[in-house]
Amino acid sequence: MLDENEIIWIPNNNYFPRRNGYSPRYVIIHGTAGFTSAKAVAHFFKSTEGGNNPVSTHYIIGLDGELVKCIDEEQGAFGNGYVSGIPGTSGDSIHHDPWWSRAINPNYLTLSIEHVKLSKDNSDELTERQKHASFRLIRAICERHNIPKRKADAEGGITGHFSMDPINRHFCPGPYPWEELFAFLASSTL
Ligand SMILES: [Zn+2]
Repeated sequence: MLDENEIIWIPNNNYFPRRNGYSPRYVIIHGTAGFTSAKAVAHFFKSTEGGNNPVSTHYIIGLDGELVKCIDEEQGAFGNGYVSGIPGTSGDSIHHDPWWSRAINPNYLTLSIEHVKLSKDNSDELTERQKHASFRLIRAICERHNIPKRKADAEGGITGHFSMDPINRHFCPGPYPWEELFAFLASSTL
């Protein structure tokens, strides 16, 4: 199981209180496209408080597996602000998955996890430690919120930022071991 004592808390105020009444249904995977540590990303989020473009995610996972939390899960983070493109099947830099709507802020419906990647284009693979921390965190989140432990569909699940913002975030998260994640979630207890 995920040991909650492993989590480092570096909070910021960039969130939608109580998700405006919605419940989370999706886990969204991101890559940082730069930065060298989870703590550095958390301090960056905090530095954007009150600015023109405040940003945040619930969690950040470092290359060493370090797990930093910035936003409580019951709040909506500022990680998934914009639905771009046209409805269809995501993954082609044109279409967003059909269940996203510009009428509902996707941050109300999502929990977001950043993964530190050194490359500006997010082309790096996760490290083994990062992958292990990511899989365990996702499983814990899904179980806490009854989010389906599978690739996202209209009922909920897990996907990347590209799913809702194919125009600006087609490279987010970049490489992620999706098949390995879903196999892990199906077999459980590691
Ligand atoms: Zn992203």
